[in-house]
Amino acid sequence: MKIFKSILFLAVLASIFYLITLEWKKRNTPLPTELHPIVAENRDILIQKASEKGINIVITDDFRSAAEQDRLYEQGRSREGTIVTHVEGGESYHNYGLAIDFALKLDDDSVVWDLERDDNQNGQSDWMEVIEIAKKLGFKSGADFQGSFKDYPHLEMDFGLSIRELRYGERPPKQ
Ligand SMILES: [Zn+2]
Repeated sequence: MKIFKSILFLAVLASIFYLITLEWKKRNTPLPTELHPIVAENRDILIQKASEKGINIVITDDFRSAAEQDRLYEQGRSREGTIVTHVEGGESYHNYGLAIDFALKLDDDSVVWDLERDDNQNGQSDWMEVIEIAKKLGFKSGADFQGSFKDYPHLEMDFGLSIRELRYGERPPKQ
């Protein structure tokens, strides 16, 4: 009985120590302030490869601070507008510099979110072609998100890290 109590005591102590370590790491790991270099590199390759197929894209969003994310979250909720995100600050891969959003740029320089158009006339939607190239580069597409909110412009590289892990200070390698 005495041994059992000692073991229990040590287990509780170890758990507390573990939680303190987690919290310490969370507090002492600064949030990123820009796009991760590997994501930035692949963004450039994506633009290049799409253009080789006759598709011009623009990156409409990349790194977003947690404050900017919170503001975006308010859109369509406490502020006017349509809902563009389902996550608050710290909950998006954009907040860790690991996501980009794209749109199509037409010859007249207008920017469109059109999943159907096939301007390079190869029988495939240009939008889906871009997603395909992006996936080959290692991006995950918001078009594949489970549930009702499909985020078609969104591309992210998670490096195997969940948002929870990122919140707790885990970071992908810089190269
Ligand atoms: Zn996005």
